Amino acid sequence: MSPRTAAKPRRRAKPGLALVGHGVSQGIAIGPAHVVESGRVDVPKYTLEPGAVGAEHARFAEAVAKSQTQIKKLRAKSKDLPASAAEELGYLLDAHELMLTGSRLVCGVEKRVAEQSINAEAAVSDELHVITQAFAAMNDTYLAGRVQDVRDVGARLLRNLTKTKPYRAFSQLPAGTIIIAEELTPADTVLMDPRLIAGFVTALGGAEDHTAIMARSLGLPAVTGVPGLTGRVQSGVTVIVDGGTGRVVINPTQRRLAAYRAKQAELTKLARRRARLRHVPAVTRDGVRITLQSNLEMPAEIESAQQGGAEGIGLLRTEFQFMNRPDLPTEDEQYRQLFTIVAGMNGRPVTIRTIDVGNDKIASLPGAELPPSSNPALGMRAIRLSLRFRELLDTQLAAILRAGAHGPVRILLPMITNPVEVLQVREAIDRVVRRLARKRVPMAEPLPPVGAMIEIPGAALAADNLARVCDFFSIGTNDLTMYTLAIDRGDDQVAHLYNPLHPSVLRLIQFTTASALRGSIPVAVCGELAGDSRYTALLLGLGIRELSMAPSNLPKVKQRIRGLDLAEATRRALTIMEQNDSAMIAVLLDDFNALA
Ligand code: PEP
Ligand code: MG
Repeated sequence: MSPRTAAKPRRRAKPGLALVGHGVSQGIAIGPAHVVESGRVDVPKYTLEPGAVGAEHARFAEAVAKSQTQIKKLRAKSKDLPASAAEELGYLLDAHELMLTGSRLVCGVEKRVAEQSINAEAAVSDELHVITQAFAAMNDTYLAGRVQDVRDVGARLLRNLTKTKPYRAFSQLPAGTIIIAEELTPADTVLMDPRLIAGFVTALGGAEDHTAIMARSLGLPAVTGVPGLTGRVQSGVTVIVDGGTGRVVINPTQRRLAAYRAKQAELTKLARRRARLRHVPAVTRDGVRITLQSNLEMPAEIESAQQGGAEGIGLLRTEFQFMNRPDLPTEDEQYRQLFTIVAGMNGRPVTIRTIDVGNDKIASLPGAELPPSSNPALGMRAIRLSLRFRELLDTQLAAILRAGAHGPVRILLPMITNPVEVLQVREAIDRVVRRLARKRVPMAEPLPPVGAMIEIPGAALAADNLARVCDFFSIGTNDLTMYTLAIDRGDDQVAHLYNPLHPSVLRLIQFTTASALRGSIPVAVCGELAGDSRYTALLLGLGIRELSMAPSNLPKVKQRIRGLDLAEATRRALTIMEQNDSAMIAVLLDDFNALA
């Protein structure tokens, strides 16, 4: 580590410093910051099986590469900062990057793994201990400051090795807290109680990843991908989060505070006015009834779904059942949680999606581990994983079928690409039904409809074939956009290119909708597009009559539907589908929306 490249001491943010990122969840939050430190990681220690050293070196190399990528991302973000701040952060990142290439830390870990046959986490922990002791013994204040950098890099390596994000005790925080973190996973977000947490800001993260979706579901104002965030906010300092514009103000002046408080009050008034729409139906001006349902990430949201007037749950993401735990939930545990939701919806339908493991939601499940995929978005995830680990699928199907004894449920399958997958799940359902019947366990009667998420371009293009084996479709525009445009929805470097209004995405939605109508099966949109009132006219114009979205978006979308003439929306949609430029499509839509 050369002292020339080591970090300068971190500076406090000057009063009123404004940073900008992706505004991923509307609303304004003002409150004291709680900075999530990188956190301590429980370090597993074990001796390697004979012959396992090579694999352990590879695992460590993967963690080093991941750490380097994270630092590169932070560096890319720092380019958007004013020059002096970018320089300051650059020193810190230079030092961290150096520590990941051929440094004493990296070489020491590799040596320990080889010589002592211990796991990489234990080797990192031991090597860190020795290095920090050596620094302390030098009795030099400058070097003492560098110890923190070594610890930071070590903690990053440990987090990436254990793949367990540090558990974050959000439940102890005072009400109104704003979480500031380098990165939050959906599992972290699920732990946020909106009664305590007012909003959050992260340095990394894209506009459409699951952390962003969770923020919208919880109705928490949030901004992600903020360059220069790390190290510039101290816990306790007042922070303003504007989830609409993506602006974050640290330690605001009194004037700025007053202006944002006024804006906040205005938004609250607007939300109250819209909430009055709860009891009126979603009918277009020319009398066409549209079904509005809610997406649910966790049982606690049921209340907001009801308050928003949801006519059912159009997408229950079951991943919450598998998060923040070291083992798999049993059939009974899953059943009890599903029962709470089904019973809570009082006879309104609940569409339960089988687990969508992989990519940015949950990386892997205990008992269903696989070697690391070189491209997790295209790997063994979602329905592919469920069909590979039949026990996992059967347990979940049994819990869903049992919950279906208490109210209408539908089974939704994620990442379907061809009819065989649907048929295999149907066989699994028959198997589980026979088992439950033998034991006289009450279950859904008649059996629930089985539908496919249309979220892969190949599935959309084969929607006519899929319609023959499915009872319904739900279009997942988040993944559909990602896979069609080859844009990682969680990568803030390409977030500006992520555009569901790209003609190719719209054509896939159009073809899927037409195929469903021809096959006489219902089709809904449950991706984030459904909850954005700017797109409501287009989706309805393309033939969609069911939308499912975060509960907080229901009133706004209903308002748009009630102001809309469907015949006119259909004409406009046809014009839009003739365009080959997303910017032109956006303009045409804006024009139409402006008439409302
Ligand atoms: C989608 O991909 O649009 C979708 C609704 O599923 P998820 O966001 O959970 O991947
Ligand atoms: Mg999806």
